[in-house]
Amino acid sequence: MDRTQAFRERLERDLQETQARIAQLRERLEAKGDYGPGRGDPAIFQWELNLAMLQQAEEQARQVREALGRLEAGTYGICQKCGQPIDEERLELLPLTTYCIRCAQSTRSGRG
Ligand SMILES: [Zn+2]
Repeated sequence: MDRTQAFRERLERDLQETQARIAQLRERLEAKGDYGPGRGDPAIFQWELNLAMLQQAEEQARQVREALGRLEAGTYGICQKCGQPIDEERLELLPLTTYCIRCAQSTRSGRG
């Protein structure tokens, strides 16, 4: 199987799982009851936690869709900064990354 196909299948599976999680979290959020005004209500805490997880899952889904778009465009696995191919081991570990290891490191250290 070619490399692109393997990544596509993995990303599509990721996307399906993430979308299932989003649907589940949305259901829980809609089930929000009439909570009292009291702060620190564990039900409200749980609701806010679900909301944070939903936002995180939506961001994840967005990134996976972008990665799939890059696969379609043939730019997947190419560093956005230096244009060099990203190490395959790094892609296995971080399939959504858009930087090669060198650029990721220089971006991080260049900030301080
Ligand atoms: Zn690079």
